[in-house]
Amino acid sequence: MQPGQMIELEVTGQAHDGAGVGKYEGFAVFVPLTVPGETVRVRIESVKKNYARGKLLELVQAHPDRIEPVCPVYEACGGCQSQHLSYEAQLKHKRQQVADHFKRIGGMDDVLIHPVLGMSDPWRYRNKAQVPFGRRQGKVVAGFYSPGSHNIIDMESCVIQHELNDAAIRFVKAQAEELGIPIYNEQKHAGVLRHVMVRIGSNTGEMMIVLVTNGEYLPKRKELVKRLVAAFPELTSLVQNINSKRTNVILGPKNKRLWGKEVIHDTIGDVKFAISPHSFYQVNTSQTKVLYDQVLRYAALTGNETVIDAYCGIGTIALYLAKHAKQVYGVEIVPEAIRDAKANARLNGITHAHFAVGAAEEVMPKWLEEGIKPDVVIVDPPRKGCDPVLLKTVADMRPERLVYVSCNSATLARDAKLLLELGYRVQEVQPVDMFPQTGHVECCTLLVREPRS
Ligand code: SAH
Repeated sequence: MQPGQMIELEVTGQAHDGAGVGKYEGFAVFVPLTVPGETVRVRIESVKKNYARGKLLELVQAHPDRIEPVCPVYEACGGCQSQHLSYEAQLKHKRQQVADHFKRIGGMDDVLIHPVLGMSDPWRYRNKAQVPFGRRQGKVVAGFYSPGSHNIIDMESCVIQHELNDAAIRFVKAQAEELGIPIYNEQKHAGVLRHVMVRIGSNTGEMMIVLVTNGEYLPKRKELVKRLVAAFPELTSLVQNINSKRTNVILGPKNKRLWGKEVIHDTIGDVKFAISPHSFYQVNTSQTKVLYDQVLRYAALTGNETVIDAYCGIGTIALYLAKHAKQVYGVEIVPEAIRDAKANARLNGITHAHFAVGAAEEVMPKWLEEGIKPDVVIVDPPRKGCDPVLLKTVADMRPERLVYVSCNSATLARDAKLLLELGYRVQEVQPVDMFPQTGHVECCTLLVREPRS
């Protein structure tokens, strides 16, 4: 197979990024924007040792669930992967993907997987936008990078983004143009304005704007601040973040408050959280509540339990569960996140939460040695899943219940297989759609301890 080659392909499966995949003369070909069941004409773009990637040219046989994408830059942008499917079909496909992973990777074909909990309005759900700024043909542009490149797709509006985030980015773009603020040039590592990040507390309406600049100097700073404050009554915190490194990492280490507060607040249920520019916070607030309520149900707390929340971020799950438990522990590798977690415990008057900084696979064995005996353990690892040492330690702690929250059902299924060997059986899986229009699926899984014979 060679780049440039045209082939006809039957799409039979789906990759983790939402792309369709089919076999051509036994060779796997990945084609974005296609659906299992379709026959498509494809141009091969790149060929690797074990697979190729192609571009969709023509639908020979289209899937009945296929619809016209809403966003005009859907194909070029790459931020969404599923807009060509009706929402109902997206949910169906996500559930199927989870089932496939449990079967193929976990070796389990009888797992109870509930229908995906979707949103009644699956648009404009993102509470956070962060977009690179650039200049093209003399004009200021802002938007996502097109897939696999650093070409900015200029975007007027993003249909999965909160309207206010959209409006703030459009406004900064217009002001940067009008005030002549120098825009960062990645190749030359010159210019000033690199990124704009906007966050909205969906339940409080508080808005934070972060201007990421290459160095301390921000020309026309006073005027820009004045205009932003006048334009957005929701604005609560306006911050300059300084990032003078040649790097893909968006935020630099230093924040400078330009106006208002240093943090914004949001609530999930009746728990309040302070969010600073560097804090990790789930991007879909209403579905986060759906997810955490599911965690709460699976944890089945009566008020007497000790709970461990591993990979706890800013402590959201631990604090959400705290009032239903006797004692909660959280562990997380990022020190700033643990600082936020402790502050958030104080903010909510929660005194029976204990947070520790460190790798879960290192801290948990210490807790085991100290004799901490959890009744319930929650894990919510990043995409790569849990370290085997962590899973072994959880099993040695012998909690009755293990609730595994995962943003990658492939590593979830892999870990579930190991957990089965360690005496924990998957009882049920509740997928939650945290990221409508994209290929990502979040799962909340209940595992229970098998009685030892
Ligand atoms: N439960 C939180 C955060 C989940 S994201 C929430 O719902 O908001 C996963 C978290 O795991 C991130 O905060 C990341 O920093 C952390 N992390 C990554 N590797 C880790 C490790 N080895 N030990 C502990 N935490 C880790």
